[in-house]
Amino acid sequence: MARQRVHGPRPHAGAAAGIDRPLVRRIARSARRLRRGLSGREQGRLAGTRRGRTIRRRGQHRNRRTVLFRRRRAGDRVKRLLLAGGGHSHVFVLDALARAPLADVEVTLVSPFDRQVYSGMLPGWITGHYAIEQCVIPLAPLAQRANARFVQAHVARLDLAARVAYTEASEPLPFDVISIATGPVMNLDAIPGLREHAIALRPIESLIRAWPRLFAQLVALAEAGEDAGTVTVLGGGAGGVELAFAIAHRARIACVPARVQLVTGKPGLLPTLGEGVRRRIARLAPARGVRLIEDDAAEITRHTVLLADGGEIASDVTIAAIGAAAADWPREAGLAVDERGFIAVDDRLQSISHPFVFAAGDCASIVGHPRPKSGVYAVRAGPPLARNLMRHLAGKRPRRYRPQRVALYLISTGPQHAVASWDGLSTEGRWVWRWKDRIDRRFVARYAAHEPAPATSPAQG
Ligand SMILES: Cc1cc2nc3c(=O)[nH]c(=O)nc-3n(C[C@H](O)[C@H](O)[C@H](O)COP(=O)(O)OP(=O)(O)OC[C@H]3O[C@@H](n4cnc5c(N)ncnc54)[C@H](O)[C@@H]3O)c2cc1C
Repeated sequence: MARQRVHGPRPHAGAAAGIDRPLVRRIARSARRLRRGLSGREQGRLAGTRRGRTIRRRGQHRNRRTVLFRRRRAGDRVKRLLLAGGGHSHVFVLDALARAPLADVEVTLVSPFDRQVYSGMLPGWITGHYAIEQCVIPLAPLAQRANARFVQAHVARLDLAARVAYTEASEPLPFDVISIATGPVMNLDAIPGLREHAIALRPIESLIRAWPRLFAQLVALAEAGEDAGTVTVLGGGAGGVELAFAIAHRARIACVPARVQLVTGKPGLLPTLGEGVRRRIARLAPARGVRLIEDDAAEITRHTVLLADGGEIASDVTIAAIGAAAADWPREAGLAVDERGFIAVDDRLQSISHPFVFAAGDCASIVGHPRPKSGVYAVRAGPPLARNLMRHLAGKRPRRYRPQRVALYLISTGPQHAVASWDGLSTEGRWVWRWKDRIDRRFVARYAAHEPAPATSPAQG
């Protein structure tokens, strides 16, 4: 019996319903005739025989297409989401888009480098704990997974009325919604001589390019039998501290004589962190070979740094880590900005002047919730930014987001040792470094390897 069913003549469509073959053919013929003259909905009503059900399925399918077509004609066309900058919040957004693609949304990512450097691991690269590949999130593959077009360029200008961003090469990037996570810039005119005689920490890629040459310069000085080379780091924030300690440690393990000095500025070491962590770093500095100078740099020359109090220190290599400044183009475009020029957003991460503009990370300031410019907050803004972009694109109201009040900072101090700071409390040790190492590696690996995003974003350390 079973063999017959497989190899014998196929039972006609209406057999199961007890309808004879000629009748089924007639129904099919009239159905075809009908279909030509019927709307999708009417076609969908055809039912009864197997053929009829097939027609109905096709009819429903056409019906859906018709509705889509009508919607698009009514102006509900494909929306364009432009992600400006591969910043920490945007890697989360891209990951979210890869996992849950948006229908009818074309996504473009524009960023000047094809990778996002995880700054928390940069000092570890300088000391030699990591290869650079371990510290970066490749952006092109992440964009590809998110079905986003990747444009490797800077956004240089915004036309908010026309909703077009322009790259430095004047390539237009039209959008319906733009999200900006371009981070901070460094004000190269903040100190006379900085532009000509110092290496700026931002963009971080420029330091990555410069570092091998700078280190070779120290080695050359040592080989020439000259006095130890002097490296001066300007800036007493987390970036400056970690950088100075990393350079001192690298020189020490490579047996390259070098003097490292950290000019913290008048506010001193780590001014936004607690007293405990400041004391620990100040105590560790001489042991690690870092000289602390609590003064402002007033001018930089080829071989010196002039201090605000009138002193002058020798410097063969000067690196500026002088903190976050705002890029000009958002303000020049007419976006509302805070008193320092950062994009002013509300607690939905929407520009307070242009609701189709979202911004997060160091380039933005949340009105009513001032927070330090730091990687911790940039990372944490990723999930609410992704959710709110999706809600906005779906025509729903974005939800409120309140950034955490305190954040964990894990500051590496050269060797595999770090200091932790949390709400005025602090601790230190090799175990803190291992903790930091674990969460840093995990963060990068997640986006680089497209594992599911973490439930809670790690603190950048
Ligand atoms: C050495 C070092 C150590 C640090 N340590 C810590 C720490 O321990 N803890 C901490 O919280 N913070 C730390 N920071 C600060 C932290 O790096 C920043 O706060 C963080 O990078 C800000 O993240 P973001 O995503 O806003 O911007 P970024 O990380 O700067 O990312 C911005 C992205 O936008 C791109 N971009 C820039 N301009 C444009 C443009 N015009 N158009 C398009 N794309 C653009 C960039 O290439 C980049 O991909 C450290 C910084 C440094 C340098």
